[in-house]
Amino acid sequence: MKEVDYIIVGCGLAGISFCEELRANEKTFIVFDDESQQSSVVAAGLYNPVILKRFSPVWKAKEQLEIALPFYEHLENLLGVKLDHKLPVYRRFASVEEQNEWFNASDKPLLEDYLSPQIIKNEIDTVNAPFGFGRVLETGRVDTSALLKHYKLFLKTINSYSTETFDYSDLKLQHDFVIYENIKSKFIVFAEGFGMVKNPFFKELPLNVAKGEVLTIKASDLKMAFILKSSVFVVPELDDCYSVGATYNWEDTTHDITEAAKMELLDKLKGLITCKYEVVDQVAGIRPTVKDRRPLVGRHPKYRNVAILNGLGTRGVMIGPYVAKQLFQLLENDLPLEEEIDIKRFQD
Ligand SMILES: Cc1cc2nc3c(=O)[nH]c(=O)nc-3n(C[C@H](O)[C@H](O)[C@H](O)COP(=O)(O)OP(=O)(O)OC[C@H]3O[C@@H](n4cnc5c(N)ncnc54)[C@H](O)[C@@H]3O)c2cc1C
Repeated sequence: MKEVDYIIVGCGLAGISFCEELRANEKTFIVFDDESQQSSVVAAGLYNPVILKRFSPVWKAKEQLEIALPFYEHLENLLGVKLDHKLPVYRRFASVEEQNEWFNASDKPLLEDYLSPQIIKNEIDTVNAPFGFGRVLETGRVDTSALLKHYKLFLKTINSYSTETFDYSDLKLQHDFVIYENIKSKFIVFAEGFGMVKNPFFKELPLNVAKGEVLTIKASDLKMAFILKSSVFVVPELDDCYSVGATYNWEDTTHDITEAAKMELLDKLKGLITCKYEVVDQVAGIRPTVKDRRPLVGRHPKYRNVAILNGLGTRGVMIGPYVAKQLFQLLENDLPLEEEIDIKRFQD
């Protein structure tokens, strides 16, 4: 029988964040991932400390960035791949009123570090922005698809990765450990994203569907070196390509791409960029979201060695490493979680 400290189910942003916490603390582990969910693969990968619809700060933005930025830098070194593309986000203004709102917001305590007060004039004739832009600081794009691909390869080299679907009915729970197939482990951490709805230990938790679709367009004349935020994001990728997204669908639980989502995104793009482009790809995934917009982290109420790391919602890039640290401290050192992320809020 193989003995490890942890079994982890799921190798998306949540699973990877937790694995790195384990490696930093010299714990042994094995990860199961069957690629049945793909939220982390298709994500645009943006990190941005400001909610740009309302000009309000993201919850714990500073604390999250302080952990996330060194985390991706460390992964770049470990994997030898460029992951963190530090690009400014330019919020397009639709009116003079919005410019004024931006000025007011940029003076507020939690926003002043992230919102540059100057209005940036539009200098790209292929972008339609007569009222200019506001620049957000401390932003960028993590190449999540490259991260997952290379991290899984890395896990294979250390014999810590299985592509099997985890079968919940085969898990045997003992007081101090769990047994799965021929593996004995002190803990098991479930990080299955939307796959959680099939998990008998946690399926009562309120995880919502938030399907998102993203297009990739090739636009050789656009020449835009920033992330443009208007009613959609337009994010520079390689070779004159840009991702455009994302949509929200609160019912569809499939990964199928749809004509309706494509039309919605193209319609929004119409008033925004004026050069020619062609659609070269379209992808879809399910964001694991929670109604109070906080993650689902914690121990199973009955089985102390069974835990969950989920509900990363629309901002898994920033929040994943932050909550993984807290879960590790809970399991190893009994340090309490922040109440806002603790699954106890749905169990009392
Ligand atoms: C279109 C779109 C755009 C997005 N854009 C951004 C963005 O710009 N910035 C940002 O921060 N976030 C973004 N997100 C959100 C972000 O992708 C999520 O917060 C994040 O991916 C959630 O990660 P996760 O690891 O919890 O879930 P997932 O990525 O879904 O990973 C769960 C893993 O568990 C595996 N799994 C499930 N069940 C089993 C089982 N029984 N056995 C074995 N393996 C199993 C799945 O195969 C999967 O690999 C976006 C999401 C979408 C869909």
